[in-house]
Amino acid sequence: MTNKKWVYLFREVDQAEKYVGGKWDNVRALLGGKGANLADMTRINVPVPPGFTVTTEACNAYLAAGEKFPEGMWDQELEALKKIEKEANKKFGDPTNPLLVSCRSGAKFSMPGMMDTVLNIGLNDKTATGMVKLTSDERFVYDAYRRLIQGFGAVVLDISDEAFEDVLDEYKKEKGYKLDTELKADDLKVLTDKFKAIVKKQKGFDFPQEPLEQLKLATEAVFKSWNGKRAVDYRNAAGISHDLGTAVSIVTMVFGNMGWESGTGVAFTRDPANGERKMYGDYLLNAQGEDVVAGIRNTEKIENLTNSLPEAYKQFLNICDKLENHYKEMQDVEFTIERGRLWMLQTRNGKRTAKAAVKIAVDMVNEGLINKEEAILRVTADNVDTLLHPQFDPNEKSKAKKEGHLYGTGVNASPGAAVGRVYFDADTAEKMAKEEHQDVIMVRPFTKPDDVHGMLAAKGILTSEGGATSHAAVVARQFGVPCVVGAAAIRINVEKRQMEVEGKVVKEGDWISVDGTSGEVYLGQIATSSPSLDEQTDLLTLLSWADELCAKPGIRKAPQGWPTKGLQVWANADYPADARRARSYGAVGIGLCRTEHMFFEPERLPIVQRMILSDSSAGRKAALDELLPHQRSDFAGLFEAMDGYPVIIRLIDPPLHEFLPSEHQLLEEVITMRVKGEKKGLEEKEKLLASVQALHESNPMMGLRGVRLSIYMPEIVEMQVRAIFEAAADTTKKGINAKPEVMIPLTGTVNELNWIQPRLEKIAKAVMKEKGVTFHYKFGTMIEIPRAAVTAGEIAEVAEFFSFGTNDLTQMTFGYSRDDAERNFLVKYVEEGILPKNPFQTLDRTGVGRLMKMCVEEGRKTRIDLEVGICGEHGGDPDSVEFCHTIGQNYVSCSPFRVPIARLAAAHAALKHSGVSIAEDK
Ligand code: PEP
Ligand code: MG
Repeated sequence: MTNKKWVYLFREVDQAEKYVGGKWDNVRALLGGKGANLADMTRINVPVPPGFTVTTEACNAYLAAGEKFPEGMWDQELEALKKIEKEANKKFGDPTNPLLVSCRSGAKFSMPGMMDTVLNIGLNDKTATGMVKLTSDERFVYDAYRRLIQGFGAVVLDISDEAFEDVLDEYKKEKGYKLDTELKADDLKVLTDKFKAIVKKQKGFDFPQEPLEQLKLATEAVFKSWNGKRAVDYRNAAGISHDLGTAVSIVTMVFGNMGWESGTGVAFTRDPANGERKMYGDYLLNAQGEDVVAGIRNTEKIENLTNSLPEAYKQFLNICDKLENHYKEMQDVEFTIERGRLWMLQTRNGKRTAKAAVKIAVDMVNEGLINKEEAILRVTADNVDTLLHPQFDPNEKSKAKKEGHLYGTGVNASPGAAVGRVYFDADTAEKMAKEEHQDVIMVRPFTKPDDVHGMLAAKGILTSEGGATSHAAVVARQFGVPCVVGAAAIRINVEKRQMEVEGKVVKEGDWISVDGTSGEVYLGQIATSSPSLDEQTDLLTLLSWADELCAKPGIRKAPQGWPTKGLQVWANADYPADARRARSYGAVGIGLCRTEHMFFEPERLPIVQRMILSDSSAGRKAALDELLPHQRSDFAGLFEAMDGYPVIIRLIDPPLHEFLPSEHQLLEEVITMRVKGEKKGLEEKEKLLASVQALHESNPMMGLRGVRLSIYMPEIVEMQVRAIFEAAADTTKKGINAKPEVMIPLTGTVNELNWIQPRLEKIAKAVMKEKGVTFHYKFGTMIEIPRAAVTAGEIAEVAEFFSFGTNDLTQMTFGYSRDDAERNFLVKYVEEGILPKNPFQTLDRTGVGRLMKMCVEEGRKTRIDLEVGICGEHGGDPDSVEFCHTIGQNYVSCSPFRVPIARLAAAHAALKHSGVSIAEDK
């Protein structure tokens, strides 16, 4: 135990790699993303200031031991310090040549601004004096010293930032200064004393002068910040595990505030908003640390650095190229230039918008940096979802502009449209969103890590300060929340709970519309519309790669005779227009056409009602004859839209009462008429009421519906099958390749199929004979009842295909009503962890999934080429799609809008289960 290595110098990265077994991901887990990359940059000869990292294992040991350093750790830290003293040729605490260090947090996954950093450790009254002698720059030294006291005070001693900021603001006001840069050496000396006094007053002891004590306390503070509220909140939101711990990197300080040949900046190697291949970032000359990110001073665009420090900029661009080539990913870098000399302080994979994620992935394939599989894995299903999210309707927006509703503009930090009510602090924003279920726009002058819970609850974010790399921008982009930052014309008065532009006041609770794509902010609510996939060429390219991958035979390991390609994606579509959209979104089949939806059309419903209410088979037939041409033309439209692709048409499923007026309402009308003595029409209404009452069932979802209804009243499905086959025959004659598949819903026993299917097939054959054409068709069933799943072997003797109706299958397996459970106990079940997820959204693999798996196996034992799909809502849920892949289904079917997500999810599943490793970076 005593021999355990808790501390690694940056140049000892090979040792760290060996210790964790060689996997880079494990190095990141040990040294934190930041520490690992600093060490890695050191290894590839990128200029990084000397330093070392205390491992996440040390942090975990510290926290587990009740906040006690593990044995040997501090000694190793001291030893490493000696080594970097040597490298830097300076000495910690030596007044004649002092080494200063920063103490930086860094977990395996980056958590921007969530944990703490302390700069300028090692400064005290003596070393400050020494530094003045060395640098002849008193201003610089006391600026660094007052920053240390403030940073140390806030992070280590838990004094609020405002305590220091207020004193600073007051002092500047007294002196008539606007900017920090106007502060002179003497001012900063005074401020250093004032800051020391704050520490003394608030804590009752002096700011620690002993450098080693500073270092020790700062290390501890970073360890502790792992369990700080904002870090915990962030991890919950980002799905990062709580037991990873943070590493602490101690890095030799380099200074960007040593005059006008010094500076500091942050940059992305590609544009994180749209993915374009150009440097994107900000810098400030003569500035340090957080100045750029905080948005306090107006930053310069990174490309302008070529004017102020051309040599350093050239070197910087080369290093960025080198880093991109090394990591094969877009990098988010931090750098400092000290008196013309460039130092890289950080590199990590950059957070980006969904749009940028897709573009960068596609571009990097075209540039030869990564392969297509890698590109597919780098784009998440959520990214695709975001890209298909609503944008403002351009017409509505220009109308709003004409009407003078444009309220302000700022930086388009995170794209998308957000409409909501304004709230001026994170707590209220979160409360209104969560408790009042309001759409919320969080408005702040700027945001801090403490605000993240409000930002996550908001539909959109607006700030009046800060730029594209500000905290608000970075967090919003990561979580896909539309965001506009730095809308400077908007004067926000948090105290008064209002904001104002030229006399136009928006009060808390008022509606605004935030366009994170254009950077505009509008008064009121602007209508949104869904973006067209056609215009998203990079996404189309990526999805075509996903399809290519799934179409590869052998990509799926499977028992003999089972599908070895990946999943196909089909769509649930009831009308030809839906089918066309589905096809344009990449669906290669219709997995479910709910025919009853067509019965609800205004001109058809009266016929349907007449059919239901008629008391003879002949009466029913007459009404059905009227419906037949309608259904035939619906189906013909579907076959035309899906020319060459299978179209599964489900026979009528719901209980008949759904097509009739509500019993409750009818009763009320009848009673009113009786009370008022109205005779006209009363008898008719009473008859209708009696029929509706006769159809009443206590539990209609388990009643006369699906195949039961078909057996009870076969005329309806006989008409439907005739319509399907007539339509298929007619379209076939027109040269369309119609592939009808007739689906019988809610089967519970094979005998139901034995009863109905031959009658229907007889009609199918008769129609083909009448029309003189033949085409390929199938009869199959939905698996929605547990009994069907467990007797799949028998059912497959009759059914040529199965489609899992997982809405009903989940309902029947759990015994939860799909109509009611979500609005009462189910939410609590998920909150309490009784269920991991809502099983109506994400397949319950353990229960429902087990039935499905068994069903596929049994079914294929009977019929090896049994076609199996899913058409419940789960067909568009990525996690469920993956499960469907693993149990050997042929396809998933989902709503047309989700088809692109499902295509990507299908490719992810294929890759994940074919042994290709998936990048774990978040
Ligand atoms: C199902 O039950 O999953 C299904 C697709 O059918 P419906 O939602 O129409 O009951
Ligand atoms: Mg169903």
